[in-house]
Amino acid sequence: MNKIAQIFQSLDYGPAPEGPEQAIAWLESHGRKFGHFIDGKWTKPGKTFSSDNPANGESLAQITDGSADDVNAAVKAARAAFKSWSALSGYERGKYLYAIARAVQKHSRLFAVLETMDNGKPIRESRDIDIPLVARHFYHHAGWAQHLSREFPDAVPYGVCGQIIPWNFPLLMLAWKIAPALAAGNTVVLKPAEFTSLTALLFAEICERVGLPKGVVNIVTGEGDTGAAIVNHPDIDKIAFTGSTEVGKIIRAATAGTGKGLSLELGGKSPYIVFEDADIDSAIEGLVDAIWFNQGQVCCAGSRLLVQESIEERFIAKLKTRMASLRVGDPLDKSVDIGALVAPVQVERIRDLMKRGAAEGAVIYEADGPVPSKGCFLKPALVTNVSPANTLVAEEIFGPVLVAMSFRTPEEAVALANNTKYGLAATIWSENINLALDIAPKIKAGVVWINGTNNFDAAVGFGGYKESGFGREGGREGMSSYLKPAWEKELKPAPAARAVAAKAANPLDETHIDQTAKMYIGGKQTRPDSAYARAVLDPSGKLIGEVGEGNRKDIRNAVEAARAALGWSATAAHSRAQILYFLAENLDYRRDEFAARIKAQTGEDGAAEVALSVERLFAFAGWADKYDGAVHNPPLRAVAAAMIEPLGVMGVVAPPSRPLLGSIALIAPALAMGNTVVLVPSAQSPLSMTDLYQVIETSDVPSGVINIVTGDSVSLAKTLAEHDGVDGLWFAGNAEASTMVEKASVTNLKQTWTSRGLYYDLADRRFEGTYFLARATQVKNVWIPYGA
Ligand code: ADP
Repeated sequence: MNKIAQIFQSLDYGPAPEGPEQAIAWLESHGRKFGHFIDGKWTKPGKTFSSDNPANGESLAQITDGSADDVNAAVKAARAAFKSWSALSGYERGKYLYAIARAVQKHSRLFAVLETMDNGKPIRESRDIDIPLVARHFYHHAGWAQHLSREFPDAVPYGVCGQIIPWNFPLLMLAWKIAPALAAGNTVVLKPAEFTSLTALLFAEICERVGLPKGVVNIVTGEGDTGAAIVNHPDIDKIAFTGSTEVGKIIRAATAGTGKGLSLELGGKSPYIVFEDADIDSAIEGLVDAIWFNQGQVCCAGSRLLVQESIEERFIAKLKTRMASLRVGDPLDKSVDIGALVAPVQVERIRDLMKRGAAEGAVIYEADGPVPSKGCFLKPALVTNVSPANTLVAEEIFGPVLVAMSFRTPEEAVALANNTKYGLAATIWSENINLALDIAPKIKAGVVWINGTNNFDAAVGFGGYKESGFGREGGREGMSSYLKPAWEKELKPAPAARAVAAKAANPLDETHIDQTAKMYIGGKQTRPDSAYARAVLDPSGKLIGEVGEGNRKDIRNAVEAARAALGWSATAAHSRAQILYFLAENLDYRRDEFAARIKAQTGEDGAAEVALSVERLFAFAGWADKYDGAVHNPPLRAVAAAMIEPLGVMGVVAPPSRPLLGSIALIAPALAMGNTVVLVPSAQSPLSMTDLYQVIETSDVPSGVINIVTGDSVSLAKTLAEHDGVDGLWFAGNAEASTMVEKASVTNLKQTWTSRGLYYDLADRRFEGTYFLARATQVKNVWIPYGA
């Protein structure tokens, strides 16, 4: 029999290796030893470590472990380059990005092979997904550079951006970070992950060859210490990080109080939900992509299969059959599905997790089939018989290990899907469009794929909810995270707040507890937990009233009430607007009384403040149904609906000045977007907001949507910051307390806005716009099949 006939009989794959020669020649051209790329030049290699090919353990090159001095030199170069780079027209900057895109495309084979050798991912993926997407990102952002001033008027770049990326998509993560940063006019210092620096270094050479001005892109290689030197460098204006939640939290704490911009794209444990009416074969193929793409080393991997009980047995059987046909082997082989994991330490970590899961009762199934004896290979694995508490269900494995659970009803699917500290992505399979589009808004995740998975595009934002981080990469949201308002630099320090007497001036007054304004929690006026009151004084120091001294317990009760009221976010924007208008109208009826109260507390004419507060409520009532999303049209036979969603429960700590407007200006945008609020009004002048209870009660605001706890701003802010039930926190106060708020918010990575001791003049009409709306919301991109 001839060979072809044999092949037809056995249907075996023959070897189809992609040649490494070009990549090796490039490594050799650098003597297989690299310094950093700083200020348009290569530095001499310093103390180095080896970058190995995980498929065979061979060393590819020596990489320099960046020191604090190296980081310093790179930041200096980036700072020097910033002035002229940001002064270029968007068109000029766009042309550079375009040139980079062209060069990446031209050398795509070299990039793909080098990526696969360095990272272990199958060439099929680096060739067809990673590198084409890299080029797409630079093309897309070339366009943004040119349209920036039109689309983001009054925005300016941060300055020097420090960017730290992981090893799972080395060049793609670089592109996600560098393209928007440069488009916006920033300069960058980027550190690739220690396991995978080579394509970043090749990219540096591309920058050199396209004539990118020196210092605009600086690449410093190294390990975690080098990353920390970037994070802590005082002359860096924004940090963009992708990596583990653990390191993300370290970075959140380290940047607290520095005023640095921060975006974090962290871990995930994304649900992959298959309903009984799904196209099962497609769902199986999708699942292969969801969990075995890049050996499962994907932050948004669909690593938790949730399958409806009625089809569970059939689905799992089909899945096992499909797993048996996955080919594990040499990543440079074009017909290999699963390549090598990035490093031996990862393989060990995954094995340890699997041992722990098995000890806790998990049943682990590994597909039969050959696996190379040398190199970092693991078989695809399926884990069953697990409860939600099993380590393998709760922890991000970051490997080719799928965990399967079943559900009975759509409600149960949602509950299981959201039962995680993460919120990066989710996949839904159902042929019933009503069901799929009913579930999508209920999932707490930044990306939802319907009848598809792992779709990415430069025009569509990507990023997480909850402990998967904040900020988006890609699309309009991604652009805006590299820009800040031009007026921020004009902010002046806020005047010091008046000292507040912590207790009633006359101890006897404390006995008249009935006259003390109460808290407002869950739609009811409630006595403070502590039964202590605090004095409210007029500017001359005279006692004019008392309010409750709120404590941790009051905050906890208020957060509980706010969580229970989250149905508010599902209320139609039109209805939310009506309620805000009603609130404004009812406040306006009582304007004289409120004006008098402001005057009593501050000595200032309150009429103007009341009028502005009414106007502000109108403004955000008007926004409620207008600040909404977009539909993107990526080149993937799908549309992505960018849905603007509220953060959830927001803590709002108002500034000391402007007792009424200071609170209204902050809670109105939060409420308009569907958040529920726990407000701590001005500590020195809280009576305007305690007076508002009656107005709230007559304005159809559902119970628990607005909760008010009076007391010491800083200690209540701390409780709010540490509370896991709070999703976002705004704090107007001094720099020291702002730092505390940002640090304490690390527990659940809540999004914060702090005034850092600066004076935000909330009467200014610029705060009637989208500034706070953007900070009260997050974007969920829902990918929906569309078109043939
Ligand atoms: P992963 O689990 O994906 O390896 P890591 O968060 O450990 O994620 O690493 C992601 C990136 O963060 C890498 O470039 C790594 O060198 C860097 N890194 C690790 N520790 C720190 C740190 N303390 N500060 C800054 N960067 C760090």
